[in-house]
Amino acid sequence: MEEIRELADEVSKKASKIDSENEMDLELLNLAFQKKLMGVNADETYGGLGKGYVELCMLAEELGKASGGFAHSVVVHHMAVDALRMFGSEEQKENFLKRLTTKEVGTLAITEPKGGSDVAALELKAEKDGDNFILNGRKTLITNAVFGSMFITLAKTENGITAFVVEKDKAKGLEIKKLEPSGMRGSGLASVGFKDVEVSEDNILGKEGKGMKVALATLSPNRIPFVAMGLGFAERCLEL
Ligand SMILES: Cc1cc2nc3c(=O)[nH]c(=O)nc-3n(C[C@H](O)[C@H](O)[C@H](O)COP(=O)(O)OP(=O)(O)OC[C@H]3O[C@@H](n4cnc5c(N)ncnc54)[C@H](O)[C@@H]3O)c2cc1C
Repeated sequence: MEEIRELADEVSKKASKIDSENEMDLELLNLAFQKKLMGVNADETYGGLGKGYVELCMLAEELGKASGGFAHSVVVHHMAVDALRMFGSEEQKENFLKRLTTKEVGTLAITEPKGGSDVAALELKAEKDGDNFILNGRKTLITNAVFGSMFITLAKTENGITAFVVEKDKAKGLEIKKLEPSGMRGSGLASVGFKDVEVSEDNILGKEGKGMKVALATLSPNRIPFVAMGLGFAERCLEL
């Protein structure tokens, strides 16, 4: 795909700056949106490219050759796209998915300071309050959190784990602390505090108490684009 190569060429010109300053180049992300490469496997009805994981892997590999941080940001964004593609209601796809494929960066917020591998052990609480839920707790190592605006967040509700679409501009009480990682720099990695963050029950992705299904169904296939990204890193190393 020519569009992928063109984007990767532009990214490689700015890769060193992104890495040294740990700062995403938002113009490059806009270019990716313009080229419809921020919704590769989302349906065209929702602003996506209508392709699949193979094309997403091609994108991840080419971007991996150009910039680790940029590639990582785009691959994690696609996890949010994929979660909405698989579990979003028609209304949620029209709203959230369309925004993710055309202009807003998303992420998956699962990991907490106590650990990430054991998703079932997460502690961020979501308590019902009328038609809303009130979220309290902390996530960490969240890619895209600095400049992204839609966080697919896993929280503990009365009947299990639930996935919520948290919109940064509506969520008062979010505290984003940028991290200084040694790798994947510029990918907007941050720790995210939730202090009485109000989220509407309309923002539940899938069913209440069925968030593990959302997490596992999203994480499993999306490990492959991460591998493709790693392949891109290795290819670039061999070139140097
Ligand atoms: C650059 C970067 C970006 C990230 N972006 C995101 C993001 O956007 N969203 C998000 O939610 N998370 C993100 N993460 C977090 C990542 O998903 C976690 O690091 C990962 O889930 C592992 O969690 P942990 O680091 O807390 O390690 P732990 O869960 O504490 O595990 C530590 C080690 O123990 C091993 N281990 C754990 N449990 C077991 C077990 N039962 N049996 C055997 N071995 C075990 C693990 O394999 C690992 O080697 C990111 C991490 C990094 C480094």
